[in-house]
Parts: sequence; C-alpha cells; structure tokens
Amino acid sequence: MAARVLDGNKIREEIIADLAVEIRELKAAGITPGLAAILVGDNPASHIYVRNKVKACQSLGLYSEKIELPSEASTEDLIKRVGELNRRDSVDGILIQLPLPPQVDTQAVLEAVDPAKDVDGLHPVNLGYLVSGRPGLVPCTPAGIVEILRRGGIAMAGSQTLIIGRSNLVGKPLALLLLREHATVTIAHSRTRALAPLARQADILIAAIGQPGLVTAEFIKPHATVIDVGINRLTTPEEIRRLYRQSSVPLHQLEAKGSVLVGDVQPEDASEMAGAFTPVPGGVGPLTIAMLMVNSVRAAKRRRMDQKKTTTGSR
Ligand code: NDP
Repeated sequence: MAARVLDGNKIREEIIADLAVEIRELKAAGITPGLAAILVGDNPASHIYVRNKVKACQSLGLYSEKIELPSEASTEDLIKRVGELNRRDSVDGILIQLPLPPQVDTQAVLEAVDPAKDVDGLHPVNLGYLVSGRPGLVPCTPAGIVEILRRGGIAMAGSQTLIIGRSNLVGKPLALLLLREHATVTIAHSRTRALAPLARQADILIAAIGQPGLVTAEFIKPHATVIDVGINRLTTPEEIRRLYRQSSVPLHQLEAKGSVLVGDVQPEDASEMAGAFTPVPGGVGPLTIAMLMVNSVRAAKRRRMDQKKTTTGSR
C-alpha cells in the first residue's frame, strides 16, 4: 500500500487559520505585528524567499518591510541596520536572509539581533533557551517539522527518531525540539558509519542533508515516517532518471521549467516503504514561512504585551 502523504500545504493552511485569530485579537488591542527582512546582494533564490515572506505577511495583514543592501555591504553596515531595527517599536521580528556574502561575519550579524525580535530563532540566547527548555523563539524549519508530525498524527513520544544532518539551522535545533516531545533522538552526519542500517531502525527518519535521493529503500524501516527536508534542484535528464525509476512526470517538468526540485529521499522508495512521508515540494517547505509568521506574532505578543503591562503597572 502506498504511504500516506503528509501534506505541508494543508498543514500550513491550518496553522495560518489559527494564527489569523491571534492576529485579530492583537489588532483589537492596537498591535499590528511587524517583520523586517534584510536582504544583501542579488542572489536570485534569496530574493524569491524574501518576496514570499513579505507576501505571507501582507496576506495576514502584518506590517512588513524589506531592506536591501548591496553585495559589498560590510559586517558593520549590517550591524548598524540591525541596531536601527532593534530600536524601532513597530518592528517585532528581524530576519536576516542567509546566506550573507563571504566578507560578512554572519554569526556577528545574527548575534546583533535583539533576541526578543529574533524570529529565525538563531540567536545564541534563543538557542540557549531551547537547550534549557525555556520558552523562546525557535528556528522555523525545525518548528515546522514538529507541527507536521503533531498535526499529521505521528507519535513522537518514545519513538526512535534519526535525524540525518547536524546543522545549526535544522539538525541540531530539531533534535532538541524532538527531545522535548520525548522522542529518542539520534543525530547522524557525514562521518556516521553504516548509515543505512542505523536509519532502518528509525520509526521517524528525517533527512536534512542537501544530497538528492541519498535516502533510498534500504534506509527506510517498513511503515516508518519519513520527513524530507532537502531542497535540491536537478537540471539534467540524467540526474532525473537516476532518481525516478518509474515516473516520467519529472522529465516533462524539466522540459517545461528547466529544473526540477527534489528532496534528499528517493521519492518512489519513500512512497513504497514508508507509512507516511513528506513530498518535495509541498512537504516541509510551506511550513517554514508559516512558522516565521507564527514567530513574528509570538514575538509581538510577548514584547508589546509586556510593554503594555509595564506601562500600566507604572501608572
Ligand atoms: P547543511 O549543509 O548545513 O548541513 C547538511 C548536513 O548533512 C551536515 O550535517 C552534513 O554532515 C550532513 N551530510 C552531508 N552529506 C552527508 C552524507 N553523505 N551522509 C550523511 N550526512 C551527510 O544543510 P542545512 O541543514 O542547512 O540544510 C539541509 C537541507 O535542507 C538542504 O537541502 C537545504 O536546502 C534544505 N533546507 C530546507 C528548508 C525548507 O524549508 N524545506 C530550510 C532549510 C534547509 P557534516 O556536518 O558532517 O558535514
């Protein structure tokens, strides 16, 4: 029997519907959550990502602004702009679109963001909150993966969960979030030996690698849940034929669009072996922006409600 598809677009709609209620409440209290995105240089993918984030803000009635800096911007230029946004009351969330150009010290820029406005959850203070189990802003993609599992009815507590990938952006924070959900978490990476047999023990297998189709049938325990975080763009028929043994649809897509988006998991193997899986596109991707909106609203609520309490209290 073919595996159940965990539909990221549908789950995003559910999250956005819940969020719309919270936004209405905030607006009734005179608060319009605001997000500012800093975009450096002319990386086309970064421009598309920021445009989609701004569009998501607009459709939810959030205030948003895009700050564009030239590709030769320095670390100091960025830190200065971040400082201005830190001080602006109308801005609740500050997003630094990564990657930054090589001359910029990315970590220094991320650390300049006020942790209360760090909607990407990448500031060491928020990562520290995550480690110590205190409430803070959590990185969007890992938070989205937990939402998919929760809303998809996948039992996390007590599960054997393997995450392939140990980045600060995905693998490491995701491991901490899943620990919070009482999963038994293992993290694998490029130095892990005998990866396939290790993966085959997992009830929940999460691939956050960046290698098209690395996870094949031999990695997947029958009926396991497979979450594919990878986003890889294939541009030749040979690459596509290597990944798809049965379907010719991707080859037609390549002809029509010039490239095809695929994940880290062999899609036909996931469909045959898994109990449930996230497709690419349409799985984890849609959740990342949804969770950015959730974080922006959460940041607005915490910071501005706190301000209101302080002002009222000091009267
Ligand atoms: P990184 O490149 O930072 O990390 C990749 C991880 O995969 C590393 O830990 C690396 O190990 C590990 N790895 C690489 N090759 C292998 C291998 N052959 N076997 C086992 N492990 C391996 O990537 P990110 O975490 O930032 O992103 C991972 C993927 O997820 C990318 O495709 C990215 O585009 C996608 N992504 C998707 C998002 C979405 O919204 N859907 C959001 C963010 C990312 P080591 O540490 O040893 O080098």
